[in-house]
Amino acid sequence: MDTTPPLPRYDWPVMEPGWVWLCGAGPGDPGLLTLHALNALRQADVVIYDALVQESILDWAPQAERIYAGKRGGKPSAKQRDISLRLVDLARAGKRVLRLKGGDPFVFGRGGEEAQTLVQHGVMVRIIPGISAGIGGLAYAGIPVTHRDVNQSVTFVTGHDQSGNTPGSLDWTSISKGSQVIVIYMGMKHIAQIAGHLIAAGRSVSEPCAVVTNATTPEQRVLETTLGTIVRDIAAAGLEPPAIICVGQSVLMRQVLDWQGMMAGDAPRNLDPLGRGMPAISA
Ligand code: SAH
Repeated sequence: MDTTPPLPRYDWPVMEPGWVWLCGAGPGDPGLLTLHALNALRQADVVIYDALVQESILDWAPQAERIYAGKRGGKPSAKQRDISLRLVDLARAGKRVLRLKGGDPFVFGRGGEEAQTLVQHGVMVRIIPGISAGIGGLAYAGIPVTHRDVNQSVTFVTGHDQSGNTPGSLDWTSISKGSQVIVIYMGMKHIAQIAGHLIAAGRSVSEPCAVVTNATTPEQRVLETTLGTIVRDIAAAGLEPPAIICVGQSVLMRQVLDWQGMMAGDAPRNLDPLGRGMPAISA
């Protein structure tokens, strides 16, 4: 039985030959694709996808040629410049090209660079946003990325720069003081340094942290820890990237919002983790 949801009535854009649609695939769960992504999958002649895109999503484009452009899984890595120029070549060959990236293409995904190269070469592009792992992945772990009692802002940071080092340009003192909740992408390799920077900048060693690996996939794992114990706990749990690391009090909300645990039969651990009381039901 084909359980692919039908596209509802709407003026769906038609993919023209020679165009590239740069599209976010969300953090993993195919159900988190947008309808524009599904519309694109149905029309593409070729899909160029990254390591973090679940391969089952490509089954929604059975007609399309698949090109892997990822950097994981033991397959050879493609250079960013080569990927961008490959997109140009495919577009010039008259293909309907779907460039599918994990999460949102413009969030730590080099989507801006790829789109710029396409435009520089006269290729028409459409951008389709996706659900970023730092928001949707945390939601699957039961962690609201903002919560009125906790934070009025959130900072997304990357744990790597292009050379693979922690970003020297980041002002950890300002981030630490200015942002109640910090969401770290690509932070696993340098977590010891990052946690050290945050503690040195004044964050408490007992500050709640969560590490969510393979978020929204069947392999999702969630570690709740603190800034002082995160390095040891990641090693003890044997956690591997890809992971989103969240630092801040909103992590405590998982004690009441671990909806996946509740679906599996767990009771909520604490109905009021932030100690704000429970709203009375008005008569
Ligand atoms: N454009 C993507 C991010 C790409 S950078 C987005 O918007 O989500 C790659 C990093 O994203 C990974 O190293 C990891 O930190 C994070 N990431 C992406 N998918 C993830 C997932 N399913 N689970 C946990 N982290 C994920």
